[in-house]
Formats: sequence, C-alpha cells, structure tokens
Amino acid sequence: APSDRSAEQVSGAKVVAQALKAQDVRYVFGVVGIPVTEIALAAQELGIRYIGMRNEQAASYAASAVGYLTGRPGVCLVVSGPGLIHALAGMANANMNCWPLIVIGGSSERNQETMGAFQEFPQAVRISIYGRPGACYVDIPADFVTVQVNVNSIKYKECCMPPPVTMAEASAVCLAASVIRSAKQPLLVIGKGAAYAHAEENIRKLVEQCKLPFLPTPMGKGVVPDNHANCVSAARSRALQFADVIVLFGARLNWILHFGLPPRYQPDVKFIQIDICAEELGNNVKPAVTLLGDINAVAKQLLEQFDKIPWQYPPESKWWKRLREKMKSNEAASKELASKISLPMNYYTVFYHVQEQLPKDCFLVSEGANTMDIGRTMLQNYLPRHRLDAGTFGTMGVGLGFAIAAALVAKDRSPGQRVICVEGDSAFGFSGMEMETICRYNLPIIVLVVNNNGVYQGFDADTWKEIVKFQDPVTVAPPMCLLPNSHYEQVMTAFGGKGYFVQTPEELQKSLKQTLEDTTKPSLINIMIEPQSTRKAQGLAATSLPLISEET
Ligand code: ADP
Repeated sequence: APSDRSAEQVSGAKVVAQALKAQDVRYVFGVVGIPVTEIALAAQELGIRYIGMRNEQAASYAASAVGYLTGRPGVCLVVSGPGLIHALAGMANANMNCWPLIVIGGSSERNQETMGAFQEFPQAVRISIYGRPGACYVDIPADFVTVQVNVNSIKYKECCMPPPVTMAEASAVCLAASVIRSAKQPLLVIGKGAAYAHAEENIRKLVEQCKLPFLPTPMGKGVVPDNHANCVSAARSRALQFADVIVLFGARLNWILHFGLPPRYQPDVKFIQIDICAEELGNNVKPAVTLLGDINAVAKQLLEQFDKIPWQYPPESKWWKRLREKMKSNEAASKELASKISLPMNYYTVFYHVQEQLPKDCFLVSEGANTMDIGRTMLQNYLPRHRLDAGTFGTMGVGLGFAIAAALVAKDRSPGQRVICVEGDSAFGFSGMEMETICRYNLPIIVLVVNNNGVYQGFDADTWKEIVKFQDPVTVAPPMCLLPNSHYEQVMTAFGGKGYFVQTPEELQKSLKQTLEDTTKPSLINIMIEPQSTRKAQGLAATSLPLISEET
C-alpha cells in the first residue's frame, strides 16, 4: 500500500523472479539484454538456475526439453523483437511436441501503474501444463522490471498444482477391452505422450500381463525398454501394416505414423485412441474407441478390466510368428551392414560401435536425417524420457539445446549420468556455437558428429576439389554439399573441451571409451563416414516418408 512508506522496496525484476520461484520454476535459459538482464540476475539470486545460451532459439529448445523431462515448465528469457522471433522456433516446436514452455519477453516501457499484471504468471504456468501441454508467452514491459514496489503490496500466487488427472468414460474402457480381446493381430503403439504422462509402469504391466506386442514411436522409446521381448521395433512396417487392432497411447496419427492410412495400414484396422486432447480424437481416421483422459490413468483403467476377467494374447499365435520372422531377418540385414570393414565407415558400422559402449542409463539426443533415422533403429533406450530428437516438427538445430537441458536435469537428479548427443554434420551447424555454452558450464556432454560432408549426402574431398578446380564454388557447389573434412571437433577444442577426429572403427571405439571414462569434460567426436552412405533398402517402396519410415 502506498501509505506504508517504511516498508522494504523491491524491484519488478525481483518480483518476477520470486513469482517464478513460487511456481517451482527451476531453470531459466536465455540471452540477456535490456530489459531482462535484471530478471536473470534476480532469478539466479533466488537459486533458480540461469543458463545463458548463444541464441534464443537454442534457449527455447532447451527450456522446452526441461518441461518434457520434469513436467514443470522451463522458462526461456528473451528480449523483445529479434529475441522473441528467435524463440518462436522453440515455441512452435514445443507446441508441435505438446511440451510445456514459458517464454518471457521484455518489451519496451509503458505507462502502467499497477503490478497486477504479474499475476499472469500462475496462469501461464497452468496453461503450459494443463490439458495438452504447450508453449505460452508472457510479455513484461521494461518499466515493470525497474519499478520499485512495496514488498507488502505484492501477493504471489500459490504454486500451480500438477494437472488434475482425468479418466476415460467407463463404458468406453469396457468397449476398448473387448475390442482388444477380440483382436487377431493386436499392436500397442507407445508415443511420447505416454512418456510425458509417466505411464511406464502401467503400460508395461499391460504389455506383460496381456502378452501384447508393442511399438514405440521415436520418443516413446524407453517407456518400455527397447530390449523387452515384446518390442517389435525391428518389424515396424510389418507390425503397422498388418495389425487389426492398434491401441495408441499418446501418439498422433500424423506423418510419424503414416497418418494411419493404407497402404501402411489395413483399411479396416480398428484404432483405440488414448489422448488428453479431445480435438485429437478421430483425426485422419474413424477410431473404433476413443478414450479421452490421462494416459497413465486410462492404462490403469484398462488393466482393471484385464484383472477382472483375465486374458492373454496367445504367445504362439501366427501374428507373433510373422513378427518374429521379420524382426530376425531385419536384424540380420543391419548386422551385415554393420560388419562391413571397408572405409570410410557406413552409418551401421558407426552405430554398431556406439551401441556397444552406450551406458544403459544415458540420455540420447539425436538429430539429422539418416543419422537420426538409422541411429534410432540401432541405439537402444532402456528408460522413459531419455530420448530427445527432432520430434513432431522435424526440427534441425534442437540437439545441443536439448543436450544442455538433459545434462542439467541429470546433474541435479543423478550425477554421473551421461548425455550422448548424436548429430548429423548439417544438424550440428544449426547451433554449433552452443559448444561454448557447454564448455562454459562444463557439462560433460558427449557430442558425436556423424559427418558425411553434406545435407543428406555430400562428396569426398577429391571430388569436391575436382568440382571447384576451375570454377567458382558459388556457381557450381551442389546444394547438398558442405565443406568436406570439416574439423568440427575443433569447435569443441576452441573452448577447452576434448575433440577427436576419427576415421576407423578402432579410432571410434578408442575415443568413445576415453570420453566415457572422463566424466569431467565435454567432448566432441567428429566421425567421418562414406559421403554417399545411405540407409538400406526398405520393403515398402515409394510411399515412405523421409526420416521415419524404414524398418530396422
Ligand atoms: P509421438 O510423436 O511419440 O507419436 P505425439 O506427440 O504425436 O507422439 O502424441 C503425443 C500425444 O500425447 C498428444 O496428442 C498429446 O495430446 C498427448 N498427451 C500428452 N500428455 C498426455 C497425458 N498426460 N495423457 C494423455 N495424453 C497426453
């Protein structure tokens, strides 16, 4: 109250920071500038981690990943104008992924006397995590940051509660259980919604109790471990194509799942859709049953049905046999490619050796075209919410921001847990300067750049030299080409991290071993591969989409 002259004065910046703290916001990522620098300082003073990034884009990616990993929104702090525009990339990506995110932008001053608008914070937190999670934006005028207010005049809202748990309609749950019981060729699809919902325990019970085959989407990997006997990832296309009942646990029928339409699916396949977002239900297909509710709660509801009247899908069925056959032949084909000893290496050889040494509990971050696509089929996840990749939006440039977020969460939760960031050389370029951020905070991230000298494909150094020998590269350089033999590892050594340039499987094994042993320093291994290396041929022709379509 203005009459209370003797009371302590506090700046608007501190009020913002305190409001964030009251909402249990633990991480703020950003690039400081006028007028938000004070907010970063005030946040840090209150014990909130402030991570200064090199571009708001990477900061917004990092903040959204923290939201996915922890369930509480991370904050991205930006200046208005260009800062906010860079952060739009992360807001769009978060919305597409259904991940919570709060972007706070400092705008110009305005004539505003009251501090009431600060009460919009709790609302922002609530909107980001309730219902379908997503991004939201709070604008803070510059004079709000600098104004001095009487401490007694501020009332912080209580910490916003976790979202209320909603359950599906009982009759729909009954119907879903009976559709599953009558399935001849059932399949559970586990998406990143299931990961975000922490539904791992109940989904695993359902898989094991009913002996059902399951297929994780890229970021659904690890909800039930990839090495589980019922995981049919290695027969992905066949499982999707011939299943007659598919239960979708937090996975949308978008491009990642080929829209749920023929020829990738049976025309009369029965979908059972579980989602928290009503608008999502019935998108692209007419589902047999829709279960509107929280995935974890609904999985439990389904389990109750199968507890009441126990039922198992017969393990000796023809369907299991068909799936197992396909898994075996696909795994053999990958193994053969991985065992090729010719140099430069191909993708399969690289990932075979990485998988051999991968700590089971590591966070895996990945982006790129073939690098992410083939890597996903060969690098296993054993824990939920431990894979972060280009996601629903297919965004390149997310990798280093995501890796920084994962490293911070690991540091606070279980020190010693590693983050392995597998990048294509093109993907790495989108935010390579975040190497400085990684080194500044001394986050022991291992970055692997799988380098084929180009976007999708490139050329070897000799061919490149021929191309530009008598002609200006500006005129003749192929659009897919990047500079051959780029020493990306020097971006890491420039800031004091460790860098390796490797060309053979032996060098890869050795450098990987060293980086895994050294838990104190970030490192980058630049892995040269055959510039024209691609993925192996697929069973399904022309209809395949980029990035996501092959079987193992
Ligand atoms: P993927 O890319 O792994 O296939 P998507 O991002 O397409 O996954 O789908 C995730 C879905 O999960 C979204 O439609 C989202 O609304 C939903 N979702 C997120 N959290 C929950 C939750 N707690 N309960 C139910 N559904 C959820």
